[in-house]
Amino acid sequence: MMSGIVIVGAGHAGSQAAIALRQGGYRDPITLVGQEREIPYHRPPLSKAFLKGAAASPVPLRSSVAYSESAVSFLQGSAAAEIDPAAKIVKLSDERWLPYDKLILATGATPRRLNCPGSDLSGIFTLRSVADAHRIRSRMRDVREIVVVGGGFVGLEAAATFAQLGKSVTVLEIGPRLLGRAVSPIISHHLLSRLTRMGLAVRLDTSAVGFLGSQKGIDAVLTDDGGRIAAQMVLIGIGAEPDCNLARQAGLHCDDGILVNSRLQTSNPDIYAIGDCARFHHWHAERSVRLESVQNATDQARHVAHTILGLEAAYRTVPWFWSDIADMKLQMVGLSHMAERHMLSGTINEGTFSVYHFRGSTLVAIDSVNSPTDHMLGRKMLEAGFSPTPDDVAAGKARSAFKEWGSGEEAALHSETTRS
Ligand SMILES: Cc1cc2nc3c(=O)[nH]c(=O)nc-3n(C[C@H](O)[C@H](O)[C@H](O)COP(=O)(O)OP(=O)(O)OC[C@H]3O[C@@H](n4cnc5c(N)ncnc54)[C@H](O)[C@@H]3O)c2cc1C
Repeated sequence: MMSGIVIVGAGHAGSQAAIALRQGGYRDPITLVGQEREIPYHRPPLSKAFLKGAAASPVPLRSSVAYSESAVSFLQGSAAAEIDPAAKIVKLSDERWLPYDKLILATGATPRRLNCPGSDLSGIFTLRSVADAHRIRSRMRDVREIVVVGGGFVGLEAAATFAQLGKSVTVLEIGPRLLGRAVSPIISHHLLSRLTRMGLAVRLDTSAVGFLGSQKGIDAVLTDDGGRIAAQMVLIGIGAEPDCNLARQAGLHCDDGILVNSRLQTSNPDIYAIGDCARFHHWHAERSVRLESVQNATDQARHVAHTILGLEAAYRTVPWFWSDIADMKLQMVGLSHMAERHMLSGTINEGTFSVYHFRGSTLVAIDSVNSPTDHMLGRKMLEAGFSPTPDDVAAGKARSAFKEWGSGEEAALHSETTRS
């Protein structure tokens, strides 16, 4: 009998890969190894609804029956400790060995920690897993003041949640603006003013350099400008490192992520890597990237399944991402880092607008705030390879230009089909 496929990591990517393989007709054994105690669950609510609510368990991605019905052997609460690529075996931390024909690494990422005096005091947290969220929830009940270190997505989502729960919240951001690496300055500015109006204190260009406290836990955060902020709880949200430990130990090439080619294959052709842990050359970004999003994790999972099942296509999707920060739904499609020109559509004062990003006269990304229709239109346009002109956007005619282009394309396709 064939050894089949072993998937290490039962998060968004690992779970989707297992199911997609079966749906695609893969017949040999599939083993999904997950070190968390829960069945695979939706991670995004951990900084939003789950943190606010009282649910004991997170929302599962699919029921446990879905794995048994798909004949996926799910080793829940099991960690992979080592890979022997020559023997094609994964060793688990409980000493069991799993042979494989193909191995998929979907190990995700681990939150960065802040190493400074006092960083081991109790009451200082990072947030990645449901176990982290439980710890934060139980500490949060007894605290008044919370400092969030890091004005990125996870930090801001959690900060807004804490404020909605009546806590006094201070956000420290080392850079000059919020979400500085991810969104345009207009959106950063809008976020800052909305969060400030909600009562959060946001301090830009400021970092935490130490923590003061006692055996009972943290009391205060020290900042690099000599300040001291009272806090009984701290959330560190300064990004995540790809989980490459197993890959490195197995001799796979890694460089801030497990390096994969367009088929998501690592430097060992029988081992693939997907999701937050994988770094790949992105056709749209025109450089190597590691994307931390549910879309990327699930799309790469489907893609790796197709690759293993014999489809040769390269991984080529338009990236998109969402984040809910208080009453703001942020949706991003495309990658705006390469843009040279930014055009506003909608009304900032009403909190409903989008920023269209152009390189030359080509649309490369759209960031939207509470404008899901712009986001969906952006996804359709970028996926189809269509760009409205900046003038179309300025005149509010992006949708009609796309429609017109679509009917032209359809007509061209129709005439090509009739000719052939
Ligand atoms: C609080 C929070 C909020 C987020 N909000 C959003 C959002 O709004 N929108 C969005 O698009 N994305 C969001 N993300 C990002 C999104 O959740 C990730 O991009 C996604 O989970 C990546 O999926 P993954 O499968 O690659 O990694 P993960 O979902 O992290 O899964 C990896 C799994 O592998 C396990 N693992 C690691 N090593 C081993 C081992 N040796 N053996 C066994 N198991 C192992 C880990 O424990 C983990 O369960 C959020 C993330 C967090 C933490």
